[in-house]
Amino acid sequence: MESGASDRHFGPRQLQRSNTAWQPDAGQVSPLTGKLRRITILSLVMLSLLCGCAALALRHGQRSMQDAATATAAIADTTARMQSAIMQMRGVVQGRVDRAGFAEAIASLQAGELRADDEASRQFATVLQAAAPRLEQLGRALLRDGATNATLAAFAAQVDLVDAGLAALRVTAQAEILARQTASIAGGDNLLVVVLVLCAAGWFVAVSAAFTVAESFRRLHAIAAAMLRVAADEAVPSLPSLDDADELGAIARAVAIFRDNAIQMRRNAAQLLAANTMLDAAINNMSQGLVMLDSERRLVISNRQYRALFGLPAELLYPGMPALELLALSRAAGNFANRDPQEVQHTIRGWLQGERPHGEQITVGSGRSVIIRRMPMPDGGWLCTYDDVTERTQTVARIAHLACHDPLTDLLTRRTLVEALAQPDSSGAPRTGYALHCIDLDRFRTVNDTHGYAAGDIILCEVARRLGEMVRGDDLLARLASNAFAVLQHSGASQDRAAALATRVVARLSEPYLVDGAEVSINVSIGVAFADGANGGANGDANGDAEHLLRAADLALQSVKLAGGGGWGFFSAGMDVAAQRRTALERDLRVALAEDQFELHYQPLISIGERRVKGFEALLRWRHPQQGMIGPDIFIPICEENRLIVPVGEWVLRAATVEAMGWPSNVSVAVNLSPVQFGQRTETGDIADQVEAALRRSGLAADRLELEITESVRLLESADSVSLLHRIRALGVRISLDDFGTGYSSLRYLRSFPFDKIKIDKSFVQGLPQAEEAGVIVAAIASLGAALGVATTAEGVETLEQLEHLINVGCTEVQGYFFSKPVPAADVADLLASYIGRRAA
Ligand code: C2E
Ligand code: CA
Ligand code: CA
Repeated sequence: MESGASDRHFGPRQLQRSNTAWQPDAGQVSPLTGKLRRITILSLVMLSLLCGCAALALRHGQRSMQDAATATAAIADTTARMQSAIMQMRGVVQGRVDRAGFAEAIASLQAGELRADDEASRQFATVLQAAAPRLEQLGRALLRDGATNATLAAFAAQVDLVDAGLAALRVTAQAEILARQTASIAGGDNLLVVVLVLCAAGWFVAVSAAFTVAESFRRLHAIAAAMLRVAADEAVPSLPSLDDADELGAIARAVAIFRDNAIQMRRNAAQLLAANTMLDAAINNMSQGLVMLDSERRLVISNRQYRALFGLPAELLYPGMPALELLALSRAAGNFANRDPQEVQHTIRGWLQGERPHGEQITVGSGRSVIIRRMPMPDGGWLCTYDDVTERTQTVARIAHLACHDPLTDLLTRRTLVEALAQPDSSGAPRTGYALHCIDLDRFRTVNDTHGYAAGDIILCEVARRLGEMVRGDDLLARLASNAFAVLQHSGASQDRAAALATRVVARLSEPYLVDGAEVSINVSIGVAFADGANGGANGDANGDAEHLLRAADLALQSVKLAGGGGWGFFSAGMDVAAQRRTALERDLRVALAEDQFELHYQPLISIGERRVKGFEALLRWRHPQQGMIGPDIFIPICEENRLIVPVGEWVLRAATVEAMGWPSNVSVAVNLSPVQFGQRTETGDIADQVEAALRRSGLAADRLELEITESVRLLESADSVSLLHRIRALGVRISLDDFGTGYSSLRYLRSFPFDKIKIDKSFVQGLPQAEEAGVIVAAIASLGAALGVATTAEGVETLEQLEHLINVGCTEVQGYFFSKPVPAADVADLLASYIGRRAA
């Protein structure tokens, strides 16, 4: 921690460390300046003293030398003159001096012209002053009276005295000169000492000054280095000179304060950054967009979600941006595009002025739905949040859509159609003049069974697509049940228009569908009823009640289907009865098997070549407890619809094989199989298992069993069905292709499986021999069978002419009322017997 590294915490107060510490604003001379000033003054004083001493020493030495020289010269002069005077006096003694010379000598002695003021001169002068008057006196006496011995002796004594004085003077003068010279030299030495001392002092001062400056610079350098480190954000654990009472100490303390402040600021900045990072993270990770405005309606903060929602580049938003400028930017980015700018501005100004906090849903430029909520803040600002509710809105819409639409085809559901029928149309009028087309895909369950549900779904979607292409904008399309559709046609109650549409729909939907590269064809039946019976509608359901209308159209449809399907028809009043009958039949069928109401009738199959009954076709009958015998054309389609045909078909197999066991061994039995039986299993297993089980149970030889597969459905388009057929055929059972010529791909069917027999549909036979076209077809099929080595059976032979024609074209087998209607099992024996008899006849 940097706080740990910091030796002390400083504030501005800590700049002043003591009462004596220097303060920049105290007006006192700074210690460092004072120190430097003192050193400078001391240096100057020392220098001045040094100069003064040198000057004095020079001057003093000069004077001493001069004095010595003067004294020497004076003594020399005095002694010279005294010597001369003494010489004159001696001359007087020797009698060689005249009066004038004597007078001059005496004068010069008396004058005592001793210019030197030294002690020797003064002593000599005293000697002279004492001797001079005596000498004068004696001299004059000599000169005046002539020389006597006494006078001469006295005189000579006086001269000797002066001479001795002079000699002493000389010695003394010499000594004094020497002393003066010595003193002069000694004075110079003293001065030298003083100068040397001063020089030493000066040197000391200079050294300490240099040291002080160097020390100051060292401290300054250390402080500068510390400052640089502080500036560079490096950790500076301790600072130099902190405790010093001078400017450098003050600078160090100031730097310490800066350092501590910098550390604190860094810490604060780091905390702020962390807090801001957290805030940013929190704000930017909100699911909502967020904008905060201050009381001046200026932008404080906005988050990423907000900018993303409104497509605003972050760099264009700045804190302090006026809200209206933000709005303008938002509009420029394509938001609020479908709204009047004035109105938007007005609204926003309103809530900016605090009119009312409210939430509203808008669609932004990107097309997303956003709910804006605005909350006033205690400081007068606003917090706005933006919820992207696109998914929610879409989900709600999707759920609403799903509730009304079929998930597979996206058409309206039956319920929605009923609701729509009950609603007035877009103009508010009741829905009259509408034709409701109920469309059914005949035997669609068979398609599912043989091709699989995925293929069925593809076809259903394609049906929906084709229907969509055929209806107009104001028509409604619905899927009523798995394979039932409806078109509510705005036909204007015109039967012609309704008929035209129904015809087109039948034709278009009957066109082959491409599933996994294979073509699949379906039959389409349509029942049409009118919402407004009064306008020429055929249903008489004038009130247009939705359910009634649907029921009417459905009845018309059932009627079409009962008539064989593959077409359309209008509703008619009698249909209601038929429909009710069918519903009742459907209900009764469910118990028919359990209550043993089914029985098999047998219709003989005559071999033309062998001229005998080759076998019998087992044809199912339903002995209804109330309605009596009901034909398979009525109930088999119902059984196929509700899959009752599967257990019923298995019962037929068992019953027929058991029955055939009672017949002559050269008489076979033919059983019709429904395509539905190929897609469904029973407890016994699949259809092949059921066949095998029936043969096993009955003990019938497999080659006495024929199975008839109708050609009108695309059974062989399913590989599974084909393999089942192969398994059955492998048992030794023969397979016949029934109703040949009624389907769409008869020839292709023949190539898909090695059928043992082709049964020419009775519709071709019944027109014979007149119908030329039918005759050609029958002849073609017969010769095709011959070419393939396949037996050809002509169904529905009712007349001799037909028989002859069929024999002529080469059919190998015939079946029809001409020989016998289907008869109960009990009559088979008689029938066989009568035939044998007839043939014999
Ligand atoms: P289908 O297999 O074509 O049977 C021949 C139909 O023609 C039979 O009608 C038969 O009575 C009828 N018929 C025979 N000769 C003549 C004739 O000379 N003139 C006329 N007008 N009709 C003749 P049926 O018995 O009413 O059967 C109708 C259809 O019901 C059958 O047509 C067959 O497709 C189906 N069917 C009958 N029994 C069964 C069954 O056990 N299982 C299955 N899946 N379908 C069956
Ligand atoms: Ca048949
Ligand atoms: Ca047939």
